[in-house]
Amino acid sequence: MSGFPAVFSGARFAVLGLGRNGLPAAIALAAMGAEVWAWDDGPAARAAAESAGVAPRDPSPILARCDGLVLSPGIPHRLPAPHPLAEAARTAGVPIICDAELLYRAVRAAGSRARFVGITGTNGKSTTTALLAHLLAEAGVPVAAGGNLGPAALALPFLPDDGIFVLEMSSYMLERIETIRFDAAAMLNLSPDHLDRHGDMAGYAAAKREIFARQAGGDTAVIGVEDAPSRAIAESLAQRPGGPRIVRIAGAAAADVSGADVSGADGILRDGLGEIVDLRSARALPGAHNAQNAAAAAALARALGLSRDDIARGITSFAGLAHRQERVGTVDGVVFINDSKATNADSTARALACHERVVWIAGGIAKAGGIESLAPLFARIDEALLIGRDAETLAATLAAHHVPHRILGSLDRAVPEAHAAARRAAGVVLLSPACASFDQFSGFEARGDRFRALVAALAEGRAA
Ligand code: ADP
Repeated sequence: MSGFPAVFSGARFAVLGLGRNGLPAAIALAAMGAEVWAWDDGPAARAAAESAGVAPRDPSPILARCDGLVLSPGIPHRLPAPHPLAEAARTAGVPIICDAELLYRAVRAAGSRARFVGITGTNGKSTTTALLAHLLAEAGVPVAAGGNLGPAALALPFLPDDGIFVLEMSSYMLERIETIRFDAAAMLNLSPDHLDRHGDMAGYAAAKREIFARQAGGDTAVIGVEDAPSRAIAESLAQRPGGPRIVRIAGAAAADVSGADVSGADGILRDGLGEIVDLRSARALPGAHNAQNAAAAAALARALGLSRDDIARGITSFAGLAHRQERVGTVDGVVFINDSKATNADSTARALACHERVVWIAGGIAKAGGIESLAPLFARIDEALLIGRDAETLAATLAAHHVPHRILGSLDRAVPEAHAAARRAAGVVLLSPACASFDQFSGFEARGDRFRALVAALAEGRAA
């Protein structure tokens, strides 16, 4: 974070969790004049904070006298069990807040009228956030994007009146905001996720709809209308007196079917004025799911004042995000696609649907329900090469559906085998694991990076 005046002098904050959000928060709050009591239960995180110039100290003794507890998104304050410090904060009436809330307060306290955009949904948040930031930057608007993706909220620079903050907001962050009013906000879609933290689907939806809290006339609420829970939110928001303008968007469903104001049906992005852009010219946005993301970004960009031409140009030139259907190379005519971010069957379904025939690399730690839901897409799979802890479980589902498959264990073994198999037939190798990566990697990024390195080695005829 840079460029902020001392807007928090005299304030005292406890920061719990010194990872990618908490550590920048502790540094930024201190730089803005606050007294900061930063803590992490893990000795390694405390040591890392120490070397970054933040001396950890346990806030327990002074917690009741803090202006807020900044709790990292990964630490629960209600379910499945509240962290003791969060419990103590609640008992003492100390607000539990997230870093994005403090960014908003800091920007306003510094006198800037920079606009705020929030983006949430079960899937597509990062893509839509990155795409909107790209559209704005290409149109010459000063923009800072981050939050759940990219730099943490309190690592973003100060923006003056003409700037726009684009924040990816997870449900965990949305439970911890109090004053942010988004000039434009989007909720892309809702399907069951993170229910351990939110209790049930109703709790999860309630957290998500917080993105529209405090929006009023003049603000814009963009809502995907392709699933029932999201449609219900659009309907109830439309009843709110003095509420925001609602723009309904859809990826696959035609506007006349879904009632959408902006849609990407049949690969053409359209609004009420007609065609904006043919999405086939957007190589980094394949599939109906990305049409939904493009529709959302376009609706937000329109609300923020971009022209339809600006939007068309930016959508075409968007380079895409790493690990989301990212083409990482072509070897002997075989295209390698890194979709390591797909950690559940739902995400993998999006990727499989983009290809007629693939050699599919999958596996890791399977999610509840496994890959049974992918059965309608199995005909596209020439061969599945399985890796990771739950390969046997995936193999059982594939065997039941007569899909050719082999258990290879590791990505290092799977990539050359996939290359050989795809040369014979499919021409496309898709890493879209439908599983978490933590059995073999530190996260989906490390898994995707290893895939990229193995493909590069293959191209150069050497060992990775
Ligand atoms: P998030 O940030 O919400 O996790 P991403 O933009 O990182 O979402 O996309 C993650 C994966 O989710 C993608 O690789 C794709 O498989 C799937 N996905 C992306 N956008 C959508 C969407 N609008 N609807 C459904 N699935 C999507």
